[in-house]
Amino acid sequence: MRKNIVAGNWKMNKNATETITLINDLKQQSFSSETTVLIAPPFVNLSTAVEQTSGTSIGVVAQNMHQSDNGAYTGEISAEMLKDIDVNHVILGHSERRAYFGEDDQLLSLKVKQALKNNLSVVFCFGEELEQRKSESHFEVVKSQIQHVLFDVAASDWRKIILAYEPVWAIGTGETASPMQAQEMHAYIRSLIKESYGADVAHRVSILYGGSVKPSNAKEIFSNPDVDGGLIGGASLVADDFAAIINAF
Ligand code: PEP
Repeated sequence: MRKNIVAGNWKMNKNATETITLINDLKQQSFSSETTVLIAPPFVNLSTAVEQTSGTSIGVVAQNMHQSDNGAYTGEISAEMLKDIDVNHVILGHSERRAYFGEDDQLLSLKVKQALKNNLSVVFCFGEELEQRKSESHFEVVKSQIQHVLFDVAASDWRKIILAYEPVWAIGTGETASPMQAQEMHAYIRSLIKESYGADVAHRVSILYGGSVKPSNAKEIFSNPDVDGGLIGGASLVADDFAAIINAF
């Protein structure tokens, strides 16, 4: 059976002291053991986060990673460096990386392969922009984003892939896809995986929803059969809110 997962994307927020405080606050909360809890602090605080979460069920995730093994790539971080500090997951394809740092399908395909080769699990993000939703091309857009990056991955590697459908118009905007819109897209995504990799892989892959999930709407979104959790931005920065979302299943 697939896992329920709630992952907090801290983006460029929280310095080292604040990282410790937020993790301590999270440690005071009780989470349902049915749900995998992940947090993604900025690179510079990953080691601190790994230390502070040691002995807990909270996993630490990187927000990005370079596609090469090593070399002259000033400012970049490799998959091997992440593994070396016990970070076992990486977010790839976030819409902010696509929009502000020019990450396209071709680059993301390389990054995903590099992560998998290094035994990192990938939280792969994708989703349509507002204009694409308005022109009703959202299914096509999502299909193309998934196909171009993930469909040459070996079936056995799918156990290391978590999908995160994040309609760009819902990220950080306060706008959320309706539970029906989320379920419709998630079911479509699962059908795409089934077509290419078969029912078993499709059934096992966790598909998270991201876009202004809050304590007040998490239950309704997570109650859909094909929604297996959430990627949470703003609300993951407040321990009570993040815990309420985790416990919304
Ligand atoms: C995100 O950045 O992945 C996200 C979903 O952000 P927010 O929850 O703030 O919309």
